[in-house]
Amino acid sequence: MATCEVCGNDYALSFEVHAQGAVHTFDSFECAITRMAPICEHCECRIVGHGVEVDRHWYCSAHCARTGDPRRGREARDSVPV
Ligand SMILES: [Zn+2]
Ligand SMILES: [Zn+2]
Repeated sequence: MATCEVCGNDYALSFEVHAQGAVHTFDSFECAITRMAPICEHCECRIVGHGVEVDRHWYCSAHCARTGDPRRGREARDSVPV
């Protein structure tokens, strides 16, 4: 049993996420995403997939990178092999 650090649920199937030297405990992926996923700087959705980084700014997609930063995001491509 471990308590979710987002919602406080004490749940038998809670799990840990180890990231950048810290250990987080969650009862669900939804809570993990709420705490850990970056937020797109253009449309403000949570970035659950690969996302796109342009000069240390995070976007959910190449479209948002190009729209949010037309100059530096011009070359942005979704990081999905084609
Ligand atoms: Zn939770
Ligand atoms: Zn976006």
